[in-house]
Amino acid sequence: MPMNRIQFQAGLSLPAFLERFGTEGQCEAALEKARWPQGFCCPRRCGEAGHSEFRVGTLKTFECRACHRQTSLIAGTLFQATHLALTIWFLAIYLISQAKTGLSSLALMRKLGVSYPSAWLIQHKLMQAMDERNAQYTLVGEVQVEDAYLGGERSGGKAGRGSENKVPFVAAVAVDAEGHPIYVKMAPIPGFTRKAIADWAKADLSPGCLVISDGLACFAGVVDAGSQHKPTIVGGRKPKDLPQFRWINTILGNLKTGFGGAYHAFDFAKYGSRYLAAFAYRFNRRFHLESLPTRLLAAAVSIGPPPERWLRQTEASC
Ligand SMILES: [Zn+2]
Repeated sequence: MPMNRIQFQAGLSLPAFLERFGTEGQCEAALEKARWPQGFCCPRRCGEAGHSEFRVGTLKTFECRACHRQTSLIAGTLFQATHLALTIWFLAIYLISQAKTGLSSLALMRKLGVSYPSAWLIQHKLMQAMDERNAQYTLVGEVQVEDAYLGGERSGGKAGRGSENKVPFVAAVAVDAEGHPIYVKMAPIPGFTRKAIADWAKADLSPGCLVISDGLACFAGVVDAGSQHKPTIVGGRKPKDLPQFRWINTILGNLKTGFGGAYHAFDFAKYGSRYLAAFAYRFNRRFHLESLPTRLLAAAVSIGPPPERWLRQTEASC
């Protein structure tokens, strides 16, 4: 097997990670830096930099000199109201960002030494941060698309039948002039209809993309969103056997292997979007394994506190 520059990159070793983020003080400093790169700035409109610092319990807190509003380090971030140490959160960020094929909540529970509900919430909050970060980008240029299912495969035109826990999604990969993958997008859609594809394309593609599909009629919907469509009729051959679809099918194969190995069955309709987003997030940053934890930290800071709708009613908070 030839040496692959993605597989063989050094990444961030666990000892190196612990040396940088092993104590609560180090994690606080990293979070403060991610939140206020130029130093504290009052989140209220006054934007004042002058402040005093103190602790409420163990929580580092800032008081604005101008308006006297008090802001804790974690208020207004993904970590708001957490009862867990930042070292636990940072370790979770590290483990989730470095796990190529994902990590189950159960594995996270064991590695972090937290309860299952806490592990579940940590994972879902971080996946949501990845999802929202992905949503800021659209694919450009030449894009290969493929129709796929979470929980099954399309075969013989029996799409979506026979299983309630089966969710259709679009897999798309932007390729460069040599046909190599650059970025991917994975998104659940209501069904393989022209309207659903048009809505997907408006959200995930920049206008003017050249979309290459295997000829499934609904993909013509990308034209309604300002892209060009180049259907490739596959005839009796499977799309994965055609060079045009090599990458998208390789990526889908990796996704399937990863999901099969790392996750137990989950509610695809409810959570599929987050799992797909986490896969795409890692894939799109595959050359940056070492800086991934700090990138994910930045995403967690900018996403803000999790709205109630994230939380399953029966789950304890973490
Ligand atoms: Zn203020």
